Amino acid sequence: MTSTTPSQEDPAMTAQTPATTDAPSVPAARTPLSWDALRGRLTGRLALPGQPGYELAIPWNVAVPVQPQAVVAAADAEDVAAVVRFARSHGLTVAVQRTGHGAVPLDASSVMVHTGALDEVSVDVEGRWARVGAGATWQQVLDAATPHGLAPLCGSAPGIGVAGFLTGGGLGPIARSVGVSSDHVRAVEVVTGEGRLRRATPTEHRELFWGLRGGKGTLGVVTAVEIDLLPIAELVGGCLWFDGADAAAVTEAWRRLCEALPEEGTTSLAFAQLPPLPQLPPQIAGRLTVAVRFAWLGEPAHAEELLAPLLAAATPVLGGVGPMPYSAIGSIHADPVDPMPVHEQVSLLRELPAEAVSALVAAAGPGSGSLQTIVEVRHLGGAVAREPQRRSAFCHRDTAFTVLAIGVPVPDPGAVAADASRVLASLAPWTTGARFPNFGASADPAEVARAYDPETLRWLGMLAEQYDPAGVLRVGAVVRTQAHTG
Ligand SMILES: Cc1cc2nc3c(=O)[nH]c(=O)nc-3n(C[C@H](O)[C@H](O)[C@H](O)COP(=O)(O)OP(=O)(O)OC[C@H]3O[C@@H](n4cnc5c(N)ncnc54)[C@H](O)[C@@H]3O)c2cc1C
Repeated sequence: MTSTTPSQEDPAMTAQTPATTDAPSVPAARTPLSWDALRGRLTGRLALPGQPGYELAIPWNVAVPVQPQAVVAAADAEDVAAVVRFARSHGLTVAVQRTGHGAVPLDASSVMVHTGALDEVSVDVEGRWARVGAGATWQQVLDAATPHGLAPLCGSAPGIGVAGFLTGGGLGPIARSVGVSSDHVRAVEVVTGEGRLRRATPTEHRELFWGLRGGKGTLGVVTAVEIDLLPIAELVGGCLWFDGADAAAVTEAWRRLCEALPEEGTTSLAFAQLPPLPQLPPQIAGRLTVAVRFAWLGEPAHAEELLAPLLAAATPVLGGVGPMPYSAIGSIHADPVDPMPVHEQVSLLRELPAEAVSALVAAAGPGSGSLQTIVEVRHLGGAVAREPQRRSAFCHRDTAFTVLAIGVPVPDPGAVAADASRVLASLAPWTTGARFPNFGASADPAEVARAYDPETLRWLGMLAEQYDPAGVLRVGAVVRTQAHTG
């Protein structure tokens, strides 16, 4: 299955063809670099290395070198536009960061827009939607919406930025029931590469609306989004932790649970080797465990029936599944909150037969010598697999499972990376060769391309040439079809 491209959405666009010439676009005339000149146009603060405010560049994933020439804490959309225009006239590129959960390496050729101050959140309770600034985190939207019994479709970690998550599609703890989170976006406001603020909806700038949902930062710096809120006040959810010694039995029982799971349920499994920290429960600290995460929007009794075979396969050492408020959705995965160094590598699977479970247990289970802190398998399908009404550039909807190898790359980053490759290679017979835009952040064009089918890649590249002819946004995980020198 592929994504639906703008040409299928809008017959008028079929007349256009992607720019395939290798001729570089003409850079704008350059003016001498004066940061004070830019400062004078900003409401927000500009910081150079060593100045107060530059520390905003430090990403959540502290393993990634993020060293832009300047950091602008944008106070409003006009600030973002001013930075893009300034960068364009000085041959610089523009990067965007909120939390740094998906950080990619940045050097002094770029100026960073930090969106943290764009954090408005307003909820229309009657209309069941919210307007959210690009710098809000999901926790801020949860805090504003859940008191009204309304659910924003966040990911597993509420500390993630709304715009970064949604531009990559977004697969949350109830994804199989509600679909990809970006399918529930109503409007996106964005500063494109010419430094213009535009509003993209299903009826305005439809091609941008298509490409901004899945295309990450390719088509601009998002300044605000309008999203659906779903009437979900409660769910059945939680996490069951099992001893590592039970890994084979638990993983096979979980595979069967996935086979039987109706669309009301979403689940993932993680082989965890958490550090021996005193703040962690002793049952899961400093040893191999297997965590089964479960979220259920149907009848509670049905959830119990579904989980019974898993609980018969082994006895949990910690955790439980039961009724919970949607506001506690982040507790299902209980992802780490504080900044840390992370190496992340991802594979997508077309299926998970019993042989794949055996291969995974051998590669990451007891006695495997795995160096990964987490090896996580998320079950997809259900609503994720359906083409939504609001079509987008998010691809590979027919993926059955994602596999993420997450390691702490110290003291030997090379060994952790090689080990992640080894773990994922054990599942090679069942992998599709693709990836999703949100997992395993990378600026390598070949890696970025794996997130899209060829037609989507072609359209994203074409739209990037159209909306950013000078290549100002050519930084990080972006799709481009032409070489630019700036
Ligand atoms: C612990 C953890 C849990 C996660 N759980 C999930 C999950 O459940 N589901 C899921 O889908 N993903 C998940 N992710 C991945 C996460 O969604 C991506 O890393 C996402 O990019 C983070 O967005 P951010 O703005 O917080 O991060 P940042 O590192 O600040 O941004 C990452 C990238 O997002 C893009 N971006 C950010 N802001 C903007 C903007 N305003 N305009 C345009 N582009 C922008 C840019 O390409 C930027 O380089 C998880 C990651 C971590 C580390």
